[in-house]
Amino acid sequence: MSPTDPAAAPSGAADNPVLSVAELRKSFGSNQVLKSIDLSVSQGQVLALIGPSGSGKTTVLRCLNGLEIPDGGRVAFRGGPAVDFGQRVSRKQLAALRDQSGMVFQHYNLFPHRTVLENIIEGPVQVQKRPKAEAVREAEDLLRRVGLHDKKDQYPHQLSGGQQQRVGIVRALALKPALLLFDEPTSALDPELVGDVLHVIKELAEDGWTMVMVTHELAFAREVASEVVFMDGGVVVERGHPDQVLRDPHEERTRQFVHRLL
Ligand code: ADP
Repeated sequence: MSPTDPAAAPSGAADNPVLSVAELRKSFGSNQVLKSIDLSVSQGQVLALIGPSGSGKTTVLRCLNGLEIPDGGRVAFRGGPAVDFGQRVSRKQLAALRDQSGMVFQHYNLFPHRTVLENIIEGPVQVQKRPKAEAVREAEDLLRRVGLHDKKDQYPHQLSGGQQQRVGIVRALALKPALLLFDEPTSALDPELVGDVLHVIKELAEDGWTMVMVTHELAFAREVASEVVFMDGGVVVERGHPDQVLRDPHEERTRQFVHRLL
């Protein structure tokens, strides 16, 4: 399940980030949701985005994945030119940006009338135009690794939430993105199903995948993240090593938030 990008060897990543975001801004009407966000994620890093509900975390992910169009700011993936949202952005630029990341959604977002296998090969075959036989082979291999190969011909409603989310993860992996985006991947799950999904995410981190993860699971963030970014009110309030941000925050707002959840 390792990242397959040949250029993905861990290295002095800080100067060669997989993703750099500068001055990202987004409003919905008069509601300024992102007020100038800077982020950078190095190869193999897991960045955990935490913060109160409504602070803009999901909007950051959606902007990175082209599901929302930012009002301003620059987003660059390694090897590609920065997309400057202060200027007109072409469909081609957006498509290229979307291709760089794979998103795992809170509510799985699987197609209900397609089987597990069909859900997974949709992106590789329809969007990336890869040969179907190859996409099927890879999908089956990934399903085996998350223990769901025997479910490949079932429909999403026949699976538990935890199984659906593992399919959601496989669907993102099948795109072979440079970056995985997780939007509160366990928050819709019954507590007894959370562990299986976290286990898969932890394995991906150990395999060297680069990830940005919005999560309320602070204990998990502490265990897996390389960096924690605390957002509030559309700004980054504090960022740093998980032990520092979660155990000994510098900012009062961070302190109040983590003390409520830990
Ligand atoms: P978080 O993930 O931190 O809970 P979100 O990014 O989901 O925060 O939302 C931040 C703010 O943006 C909220 O006030 C939310 O209501 C608003 N918002 C998010 N998406 C939309 C949208 N599509 N239209 C209007 N407002 C939105």
